[in-house]
Amino acid sequence: NRQMILANRPSGAPGKDNFELKTSDIPAIKDGQLLLRTVYLSLDPYMRGRMSDAESYAEPVGLGEVMVGGTVNRVVESKHPDYQAGDWVLSYTVGWQDYGVSDGSMLFKLDPELAPVSYALGVLGMPGFTAYMGLMDIGKPKAGETLVVAAATGPVGATVAQIGKIQGCRVVAIAGGEQKRQHLESLGVDVALDHRADDFAAQLAAACPQGIDIYYENVGGKVFDAVLPLLNTAARIPLCGLVAHYNDQELPLGQDRMALLMTTILIKCLTVRGFIIFDDYDDRYPEFAAAMAEWVSAGKVQYLEQVIDGLEQAPEGLRDLLDGKNFGKLVVRVGPD
Ligand code: NDP
Repeated sequence: NRQMILANRPSGAPGKDNFELKTSDIPAIKDGQLLLRTVYLSLDPYMRGRMSDAESYAEPVGLGEVMVGGTVNRVVESKHPDYQAGDWVLSYTVGWQDYGVSDGSMLFKLDPELAPVSYALGVLGMPGFTAYMGLMDIGKPKAGETLVVAAATGPVGATVAQIGKIQGCRVVAIAGGEQKRQHLESLGVDVALDHRADDFAAQLAAACPQGIDIYYENVGGKVFDAVLPLLNTAARIPLCGLVAHYNDQELPLGQDRMALLMTTILIKCLTVRGFIIFDDYDDRYPEFAAAMAEWVSAGKVQYLEQVIDGLEQAPEGLRDLLDGKNFGKLVVRVGPD
């Protein structure tokens, strides 16, 4: 059983030096337990936070422990009444290793006939749920409104952009680089922009002649700077993530803009609301699952996945994800079906 252990905490960007690949025996199971083999491991921006011991909404991974993550597994052996060998499951307790033991908690059965099983790590799972609740519950989209979203080729952003179109919004989607920008156009958004362009702020202003009604915040940084002056009165900002800052080691130098931000919130009567998906919306998962299954099967929401091979590639995969080098939902294939 190969296990990717957190060896030390990163400063700045994470990488393979922060991990150690160990080998242990395949664990034995007791009554009520299952042995799971990992087929796919999800890589997600939140993992950077779990590697750090800075205060957050979840406990950090301990040094010497297996790194946490969502996985799609095959049941190898079951002494649990609800599962049998061969079942496909989504697990949040196995993490970055080949095999794990489960008692059935935080375990969900998957139907491989419904969609490729790996979709449970993306559009049909946590990132899709995040997109859906943040946009629908906090963004409250109305037909004709302008919605702006960045990291828009990733699993959260791409889903936000496409749900926005289903709701009748004018969608301005932002990603890094020309290849990603062209992909956004293929999703049918109204305007696709590259945030690396020198005149990005001017391009965004030109793309939003009626201002911005909903800014779905995934990134922060320069994108937020360009968005702030364009926000309309009573605009909504679902504050989902700030990936541009996850590797920051200190507050940025330069002028303190707190007063500008607070004044804008005040005079434009903005709603800015942070949320942690499973803490805030656990009870609404069935509503999301039903809506998204229908949209995906009808082709109204498309999904792009990038699969890298081998557990040993996961640390560099995570580094690249935070740097925008992924193209679509980043998943590691850990073992065969
Ligand atoms: P993505 O696959 O979209 O990966 C992150 C992307 O962020 C990169 O590919 C890159 O895309 C973009 N990015 C990185 N740095 C910058 C930068 N400086 N400026 C602009 N864009 C940047 O990730 P997810 O879809 O999984 O997650 C998106 C966001 O949602 C994250 O902030 C994540 O933390 C958050 N999240 C929050 C949850 C919650 O409960 N609140 C739950 C799940 C996710 P590009 O190359 O296009 O710039």
